[in-house]
Amino acid sequence: MITHVSKKEMFHSFAFQMIFQLLKWLTFTNKAYLAGKQLKPGDDPYREHAFNLQESDRLGSERAIRDTRHYRCASLNYDTDLPSTSIIITFHNEARSTLLRTIKSVLMRSPPSLIQEIILIDDFSSDPEDCQLLSQIPKVHCLRNGRREGLIRSRVRGANTATASILTFLDSHCEVNTDWLQPMIQRVKEDHTRVVSPIIDVISLDNFAYLAASADLRGGFDWSLHFKWEQIPIEQKMARSDPTQPIRTPVIAGGIFVMDKSWFNHLGQYDTHMDIWGGENFELSFRVWMCGGSLEILPCSRVGHVFRKRHPYDFPEGNALTYIKNTRRAAEVWMDEYKQYYYSARPSAQGKAFGSITDRLTLRRKLNCKPFRWYMENVYPELRVPEQEAVSSVLKQGGSCLETRGIDILGLAECRGIGASRPQSQVRDQALKV
Ligand code: UDP
Ligand code: MN
Repeated sequence: MITHVSKKEMFHSFAFQMIFQLLKWLTFTNKAYLAGKQLKPGDDPYREHAFNLQESDRLGSERAIRDTRHYRCASLNYDTDLPSTSIIITFHNEARSTLLRTIKSVLMRSPPSLIQEIILIDDFSSDPEDCQLLSQIPKVHCLRNGRREGLIRSRVRGANTATASILTFLDSHCEVNTDWLQPMIQRVKEDHTRVVSPIIDVISLDNFAYLAASADLRGGFDWSLHFKWEQIPIEQKMARSDPTQPIRTPVIAGGIFVMDKSWFNHLGQYDTHMDIWGGENFELSFRVWMCGGSLEILPCSRVGHVFRKRHPYDFPEGNALTYIKNTRRAAEVWMDEYKQYYYSARPSAQGKAFGSITDRLTLRRKLNCKPFRWYMENVYPELRVPEQEAVSSVLKQGGSCLETRGIDILGLAECRGIGASRPQSQVRDQALKV
């Protein structure tokens, strides 16, 4: 009797859900949503979003893209009972066409059973209607911030409302590729302390062509805490017999990754005193490695992202001060004595405000995390400390430097390190195939 009733109830709730989703779908029309904001003749198509809006609008929301994975990825098998995930996308004044394409690509290219929900966080965009309209799409929920919070606090808000056991973070101008989700969920299911990301393909900001990124890159940085893609160290590359194998990475780019929800919470989510954009990827990466987890890039998962050359939005405290505040927080909490190299590489950071870090230091102690020295020795030994570089002498000629160490001549290279100028771009690099 009891089972009979619960089955009936289950059927009712299932039927209700289906009807509800169908009604939602019927109310949402791409056309009305996209027609809401159109570029006017004569407008600069790059002005508002720092990418070519005209091209994005022209494409439609369901275009096909090339499967950029290694061919061996297609024959891999994944568990049939993978847990589902909550997709979290925060946006501030995103173009309607790119945001809709991000959502549609998730719905088109993921097994439906793996998508518990898509949570959008509208970070106080000028037009509240974007959020309302997108909520009409099945599985999509949209929360709107009452004031500008920045991507860090917005993602935490999304994570706090997520109901699935696994969190998947995406930017608001992505296109996910074939079977992007299964490899990531599989790795996290096998070991909940893994934090995984896909290879991030490049969507051209000019013509929106979908371009394959190199599969031999990982995330790295210099002492100024500027993120860059770099080649996998040669020994690791030689040891890779299987191109579908995960790539260990010292840091993640930041925008696109999958993480177990309990692990995210256990490790202290994000540093919510960081504002707007930047630095959070270092803080999370150091924390994950130093507190018992690992970071990897999965070559069989591909997600396209529009990399831009500038931020199209304002920073209330200014772009430079915000980046300094956020990276200072990461350096002060996690980098121990190595933070001196951060200050040498970024002298302007000295004396700038970064708020209280007491809570984050308490968290670090509570989690019993390893020292930064351990990270340097075990995760990122390729990041040389400036003193080691100073041992070698550098003979400068024009823009080129003859590098020597002891009696060995290392070669003529672009000048870097002590005394050399360094581009301080604060926009994350793209990783094109070379
Ligand atoms: N974002 C946000 N609030 C902000 C700044 C950014 O919600 O104050 C969102 C943005 O819309 C995007 C994501 O955070 O979905 C990452 O920002 P962006 O793409 O500008 O960073 P990038 O990819 O260039 O590192
Ligand atoms: Mn982005």
